Amino acid sequence: MSIQLADILAARRTIAGVAARTPMVPSLAVDGDLLLKLETTQPIGAFKLRGALNAVSAVPAGAPGVTCCSTGNHGRGVAFAARAAGLRAVVCMSELVPKAKVEGIRALGAEVHIAGRSQDDAQAESLRLVREEGLVEIPPFDDPLVIAGQGTIGLEMLEDRPDLAAILVPLSGGGLAAGVALAAKAIKPSIRLIGVTMDRGAAMHASIRAGRPVEVVEVASLADSLGGGIGLENRLTFAMCRDLLDDCILVTEDEIYDAMQALYYEDRMVAEGGSVVGIAAMRSGRLPAFGGPVATILTGRNVDMTTFTEIVAGRGVRLGEVELKGRSYGA
Ligand SMILES: *Cc1c(COP(=O)(O)O)cnc(C)c1O
Repeated sequence: MSIQLADILAARRTIAGVAARTPMVPSLAVDGDLLLKLETTQPIGAFKLRGALNAVSAVPAGAPGVTCCSTGNHGRGVAFAARAAGLRAVVCMSELVPKAKVEGIRALGAEVHIAGRSQDDAQAESLRLVREEGLVEIPPFDDPLVIAGQGTIGLEMLEDRPDLAAILVPLSGGGLAAGVALAAKAIKPSIRLIGVTMDRGAAMHASIRAGRPVEVVEVASLADSLGGGIGLENRLTFAMCRDLLDDCILVTEDEIYDAMQALYYEDRMVAEGGSVVGIAAMRSGRLPAFGGPVATILTGRNVDMTTFTEIVAGRGVRLGEVELKGRSYGA
């Protein structure tokens, strides 16, 4: 099973008209050329709509609906895509998921099944629905149609700016990075693709270093969208990220905090911690010069607003066991 540029071109036709063709705009949050691909402007506020639409489009006629277990943007994407296709969607979550997220998914027309106290329990419920009710599971990243859907972002970026020298991609399970890297390198082999993720609990980074999929201990992070494993039985995204990414950069929680402030104060934009890791990497000064314009993907805007307002006010934020110190922007 391998994915080609043709699959990404086909995905573009499939998702056109429901997913937005998003703008790419210059950022003032870094010195030098950085472009922001605004997936924050998708109807669900995040890029995951693309992969979900492409995968839902392939659900066999007569299937009673779709299911997934996602606490965040994947659940929103599946809910939106299923409603657009007139299909039932059941999103499975653990009882630890915040109410606001549950309500957000329900507002998009999906049923929410609350199962147990862990992601594993939610996954078990989703598999039960597949087994007992014949629902089709839509995976969050390790799926050829999902990867091809996310890859459409790469097509648009190089259409708008063929001069791009590098793309900084927020990295978790790697569906986004795999798709964007495949598209971008097929069009422009010289382009550099850099995965960016948080320095604690980043499963893809640890797996690439280990040479095989490994598990990591999950910790609370401002980049909560980037948490979670890649699956020890990973079929596609591990090998694609290993082979297609030129590097992987890690950013600290303080750098993510600072990047959320910078995006807000310089660009007047609101985004999730997981979205701004490319900005954080640029501002860290740890990236090499790429010899041309650099772009990153603002992957989503579905941030918890209590946390966000604390950050823009320069106040401290509690992350699980850790207390992140507050700091006024520019201070
Ligand atoms: C899912 C997600 C990512 C990471 O995408 P993967 O395909 O899992 O690597 C990044 N940012 C946001 C906002 C997300 O929801």
